[in-house]
Amino acid sequence: MNDIHALRSLLASPKKVVIITHFKPDADALGSSLGLAGFLIKKGHSVDVISPSDYPDFLAWMPLKEIVTALSKSNKEPEMKTARLMAQADIIFCLDFSSLKRINEVGDMVLKSTAVKVLIDHHLEPEKFAQFEKWDVSSASTAGLIFELIKELDSTESIDLDMASCLYAGLMTDTGGFRHNNTTQREFLIASELVRLGANPSEIAKKIYDTNSLERLRLTGYVLSEKLTVLPEYNTAYITLTGDELNKFGAQTGDTEGLVNYGLSIKGVKMAVLMYDRKEEIKLSFRSLADFDVNALARKHFEGGGHKNASGGQSKLTLEETLQKFLSILPEYKSLLNQ
Ligand code: 5GP
Ligand code: MN
Repeated sequence: MNDIHALRSLLASPKKVVIITHFKPDADALGSSLGLAGFLIKKGHSVDVISPSDYPDFLAWMPLKEIVTALSKSNKEPEMKTARLMAQADIIFCLDFSSLKRINEVGDMVLKSTAVKVLIDHHLEPEKFAQFEKWDVSSASTAGLIFELIKELDSTESIDLDMASCLYAGLMTDTGGFRHNNTTQREFLIASELVRLGANPSEIAKKIYDTNSLERLRLTGYVLSEKLTVLPEYNTAYITLTGDELNKFGAQTGDTEGLVNYGLSIKGVKMAVLMYDRKEEIKLSFRSLADFDVNALARKHFEGGGHKNASGGQSKLTLEETLQKFLSILPEYKSLLNQ
């Protein structure tokens, strides 16, 4: 944090706080937001959490989820409420994203708001719009940054079981279950503290990883047998999913999460990509090994970004055109992919 003392004094009296996280929030986005919300509520602030899109079913177990306002295309009421909250807010916390594009129409509200803005994030190349920043790309998760912020501002003893569970979920998922190369001693130290404060690792892992619907497992089976393509020349694997295919398996928000990792689990594969039709656009998820930088690729070609080994982007082309575009840029990366 650039000025922890100033933030502490700002929070010394009750404030109207809005916490915003990114479009299609994952466990780190919501876990860090709800963990911070729990802390601020305890300190006497009034707190609302905004999700720029629907609340995912697989995180329905998260404590405090009732304070989340989730925007939806079919109902304009949450958007109007968000505009109201943003206009009245004293402080806006932006968690787990660094580009205002990732919060869609809420981005403009953040820019226009006169509230103090606080960015807490671990993605590469943040936009400069906040007065306070806790930006650290070496942290595996935003949840871990919230843990450290609470420690700096106050004490970890103010983290209760509910907050610890939300933060642990973010830490666990953004490290891929403590397996990705962003997992360091720092992550284990935070995890250990969260467990001391009440988080139950096996229960949280079960809630996140072992609550598949049969349709979701069938979708995974279909993807693995029919849709996973390997391009040995480029050490690349890709998966495409049309809207019809997703509908056929009754896919819910979050059901495509993790599919891209199967591509990367193939021996020799250095980059894996999932492209699927999200109606309003084609969404792309990239994963890579070692020095191959998918953040740079997503940023250059697919209006995206993220981390060096895990990034995302989008395309307004059709799914087939998006695939062709992806295939056409591969020669540019051939030597890097064959190192
Ligand atoms: P996922 O593939 O799981 O959606 O995202 C992987 C990583 O890239 C996450 O850290 C996510 O926040 C980031 N990411 C996903 N989509 C986008 C995007 O469109 N723009 C940017 N800047 N980052 C993204
Ligand atoms: Mn994150």
